Amino acid sequence: MIEVKGISKSYGPIEALRDVSFGIAAGEIVGLLGPNGAGKTTTIKILTGNLQPDDGFVEVNGLDVLEHTREVQAQIGYLPETAPLYPELTVQGYLRMMSELRDIPEQDRVARISEAVYATGLAEHLTRPIGELSKGFRQRVGLAQAIIHKPRLLILDEPTIGLDPTQIVEVRHLIRRLARESTVLLSTHILSEVEALCDRVIVLINGRIRADAELSELASTADAILVLGRETSGVEEALLDLDGVEGVDFVQPVADSREPSPFPAYRVLGSGLDADLCPRIYDRARREGWPVRELRQDVRTLESVFNELATGS
Ligand code: ATP
Repeated sequence: MIEVKGISKSYGPIEALRDVSFGIAAGEIVGLLGPNGAGKTTTIKILTGNLQPDDGFVEVNGLDVLEHTREVQAQIGYLPETAPLYPELTVQGYLRMMSELRDIPEQDRVARISEAVYATGLAEHLTRPIGELSKGFRQRVGLAQAIIHKPRLLILDEPTIGLDPTQIVEVRHLIRRLARESTVLLSTHILSEVEALCDRVIVLINGRIRADAELSELASTADAILVLGRETSGVEEALLDLDGVEGVDFVQPVADSREPSPFPAYRVLGSGLDADLCPRIYDRARREGWPVRELRQDVRTLESVFNELATGS
């Protein structure tokens, strides 16, 4: 659906994007995640034909965005970081104006507006001026204009920024519903947003892609944690001897206690992402008669992965 190839963009001396490439298939919900200033908005502006890259190109459904800007924009629903809403217009008036700007044939306009209003839960607010609505409802109006022309691709820039926790839940719920009909790319600097909504995440840091993976894949690890009941000799050597083990770290488990636990623990580092080392470790422990207290696969949180990427560790 989207093919981004080697885009770079500088604003004077600031290199906002450097050789960014990724693809998004139809039906995916993809999160573009990155800290402030990472280049998310710049990427989205280029994708939607609102900014020209210095290098590289973007295709949407096989059409080059710069050569076929209007045709591409007709296929995209775009919610900018700050949607250009007109506070003095009523919800209905604004959506009517947007349906005209989107070249929706006159005979279809009422039906399209009704569908967008229904999808975004705005029916009771149709006659209210936009300026009188709460932030959450203004965001819904932004989403309604983004879907009014039934786009196949929805691009949302920080869709929940500035909303309160209840509004965030509502808007996320709404995005999930809209995603049944469209491919979605959303930018955010909030990890939980990606976890709540996306199948896949592209991590952008300092204008470069640092990761592009399914969420489950990114957080998965082949490492295992082994905790013994007392100090036992020869454990490290025996673990290193196992197939698929790349290294062994001795760790002090702190668990929930403030004091380091007295039990010796080992993080066994696996060499492949999908290998489960626990059965092999369990067999060895049984043969050697180790006093095993705990044996489990190590699980990384998305937060720790993100921090590792952000700090380059
Ligand atoms: P945020 O989460 O804070 O919105 P972002 O990931 O969307 O950040 P961008 O807005 O794309 O990041 O900005 C990337 C870099 O380019 C930043 O260093 C920013 O200061 C710079 N930048 C963006 N727009 C301009 C501009 N019009 N002129 C000069 N520099 C700009």
